[in-house]
Amino acid sequence: MHFERADDDLRLLTAMPKPELHLHLDGSLDPALALELAASRGVDAPRDWAGMRAALVAPERCIDQADLLRAFDLPIALLQDAEALHRASETLLRAKAADGVAYAELRWGPALHTAKGLSLREVIAAVASGASAATAATGIEVRLIATAIRSHDAATNRALATAAVASRDLGVVAFDLAGREAAHPDPLEFSDAFNVAREGGLAITLHAGEWGGAAQVRRALEVHPARIAHGAVAADDAALCAELVARNVVLDLCPSSNVQAAIVAGYGDFPIARLRSRGVRITLNTDDLVVSDLTLSEEYVRVRRRLGLEVAELIEIAREGYAAAFLDDRTRARLLSGFDAWLAARRLAAPPRS
Ligand SMILES: [Zn+2]
Repeated sequence: MHFERADDDLRLLTAMPKPELHLHLDGSLDPALALELAASRGVDAPRDWAGMRAALVAPERCIDQADLLRAFDLPIALLQDAEALHRASETLLRAKAADGVAYAELRWGPALHTAKGLSLREVIAAVASGASAATAATGIEVRLIATAIRSHDAATNRALATAAVASRDLGVVAFDLAGREAAHPDPLEFSDAFNVAREGGLAITLHAGEWGGAAQVRRALEVHPARIAHGAVAADDAALCAELVARNVVLDLCPSSNVQAAIVAGYGDFPIARLRSRGVRITLNTDDLVVSDLTLSEEYVRVRRRLGLEVAELIEIAREGYAAAFLDDRTRARLLSGFDAWLAARRLAAPPRS
């Protein structure tokens, strides 16, 4: 019985046109493509599919965030030329479209892909052209987020912000910060880069609370983000939740990834219900298709089954994703009307407009 119900949920939630706002390119490298790239680029890596898959998928339970991040080293080594970046982007976004993702914000750290001579602009252009190919083939709408890296120096991240602003014509809409939070806890180290990005018209987001608890989420507010990647630990701090609500900051949550990085004890402890009951705006995402071996539909099903949210609540969460997306009003309205039409065709109620 349980299995049948899970199948029904999975069918419905796979078909639902979902937004995904927190998704990393390098954490989502298809193992078959990785095999081909390793062979053709002469990169030292497993030579069979099972071995490659084992190398790209992180353990279900890592020691901490830094341990999880080790899974990114091989994909970054494989993605150092324009063709590789184009194909990784196209392959991922086609897989997302097949999983019912109608809108994706794809993020990655362009400065990690310049080891063989690509400029930041060339890295961004290659990922953008892969995204365009996926859009042409499937209709998926895509925007790009340039991610600065905490372990890079301030000048490198500032140069990325400048390149990202100059690449708004390629679909870059936002500037992000990610990486080892324990080693570089203070985002104000990069306030210059954030200022360049903001003044250049990019939305601001950053990763926070993968280490260091609610204090790190509070610290993230110092760079005035529109959204925070993760930040679930804010649920432990009622005053912080109130501040997130007052500032209208959205949390782009990834429950499975947080379980994997040992940020929460188990999936059942993930505080979606607590955050929502305090009025905090949240979206639901995977973080990484391959590192976490997880589709967005599967994450929705986990929230349904392991956290007990109703399908109606998952519909509200998906709708919140479109509302929080870094999109122009016209595209947002088009995607939302497609979403509402899909609901209406299935006689599922759209949540009341806020
Ligand atoms: Zn992330």
